[in-house]
Amino acid sequence: MAMKTGKEYIDSLRKLNLNVYMFGEKVLVPVDHPIIIPSMNAVAVTYDLAFDPLYEDLMTATSHLTGEKINRFNHIFQNTSDLVKKVKRQRLLGQKTACCFQRCVGQDAFNAVYSTAFEVDAKYGTNYLGNFTKFLRYVQDEDLVTDGAMTDVKGDRGLAPSQQADPDLYLRVVERREDGIVVRGCKAHQTGIVNSHEVLCMPTISMDPADKDYAVCFSVPSDSPGIVLIYGRQSCDTRKMEGTEIDVGNSQYGGHEALIIFDDVFVPNDRIFLNGETDFVGTLVERFGGHHRPSYACKVGVGDVLIGAAALAADYNGVAKASHIKDKLIEMTHLNETIYSSALACSYEGFATPSGAYLIDLMLANVCKQNVTRFPYEIGRLAEDIAGGLMVTQPSEKDLRSPEIGHYIDKYLRGVASVPTENRMRIFRLIENLTLGTGAVGYRTESMHGAGSPQAQRIMIARLGNYAHKKELAKAIAKIKD
Ligand code: SF4
Ligand code: FE
Repeated sequence: MAMKTGKEYIDSLRKLNLNVYMFGEKVLVPVDHPIIIPSMNAVAVTYDLAFDPLYEDLMTATSHLTGEKINRFNHIFQNTSDLVKKVKRQRLLGQKTACCFQRCVGQDAFNAVYSTAFEVDAKYGTNYLGNFTKFLRYVQDEDLVTDGAMTDVKGDRGLAPSQQADPDLYLRVVERREDGIVVRGCKAHQTGIVNSHEVLCMPTISMDPADKDYAVCFSVPSDSPGIVLIYGRQSCDTRKMEGTEIDVGNSQYGGHEALIIFDDVFVPNDRIFLNGETDFVGTLVERFGGHHRPSYACKVGVGDVLIGAAALAADYNGVAKASHIKDKLIEMTHLNETIYSSALACSYEGFATPSGAYLIDLMLANVCKQNVTRFPYEIGRLAEDIAGGLMVTQPSEKDLRSPEIGHYIDKYLRGVASVPTENRMRIFRLIENLTLGTGAVGYRTESMHGAGSPQAQRIMIARLGNYAHKKELAKAIAKIKD
């Protein structure tokens, strides 16, 4: 089947029988819910841009399985060029949506599972890569969205999965049958699951043999019996239900996260990609994290929008020529491009795994994500500095539109005389959205914790830092002979 358009994608979501809850109630038609629609629109952009000749090279690829043209989000990286194009695509989509467009987690999961399954099969004679390849072909042919689900709720962080007071705090196999397995547990912070056709589950931490039942990787349709989705709240989310545009800041696009409950979900044998091989869990986790960290080049694209918004706010406030404002915009740009540099660098330094699929340079990927845990906060702080307090104290759009008091707002909230007050209010609300509102989930806290919290990168940086080698370098220069 051919690649889908955004509209065909949304039509395909309508056919799913998802079990979604929000505000304590079941959402009967998720695709029509005003809080969900912007996040669905953001994923739809990943479909529509694939048909734009201008972006064809970044948005599409040739499947190594079928030779067919596919959406690049469903592609296995075949060379460093594929890794670099992913980073450029991430920035492009961040610029177009100013939010989390959700589809990248699946691609990073595909690539981590593909290369790991190859190595598990080589050691144990299993057929996980065969199972996975069959699944991936289906995803490519139907042009589906797959949620890559790694993060378990984890309970007591000081205890291994099998030591928890409640054994379900990490997703696990609760029954083994002739035709498959039954799994139970909960994945948290699951980006885009309500807009996904499939959920690809992976373990979340390295494990030893006692955790065998937790060392499980598989994919099932997102509307499988036993799956319950509980939509995550975002700051200012109900503004999307008010029927106005300005107060939302980014009314067209947004991201979402949800809890996925697996209440005894059946997984058929041909959808299992790891089942008890605890010695490969660390590799799978490390590769998913490694691929996903430079995917945060999405934040560079969102950062471009935020820098643009701050520059417009300076124009509208009449301070664009002030030297300290110019310097703040330079600082924001420097920080943003530093993230981009490390995302590109780890991709250019990629290498082939035994499966043939390419992996990024792990050190540089971790440096990239460590930058992401810091720089968007400083970029956001500078944007708030430039915008001024009205971004959080200005009245609502309904007040602006009020026949009784709207004229006061139009008169007194005007900055530069030639710029309509409404434009100034729109830019302030966009900055508010990205730093404090629904968009801040993606731009700020997700920058901190998504693809691993800062300490996860520091552990990898310590492991890969090779201090012994660096000591030898210093000794050679200082002429030290032990
Ligand atoms: Fe993709 Fe970025 Fe959203 Fe992660 S945060 S899913 S990398 S857009
Ligand atoms: Fe993420």
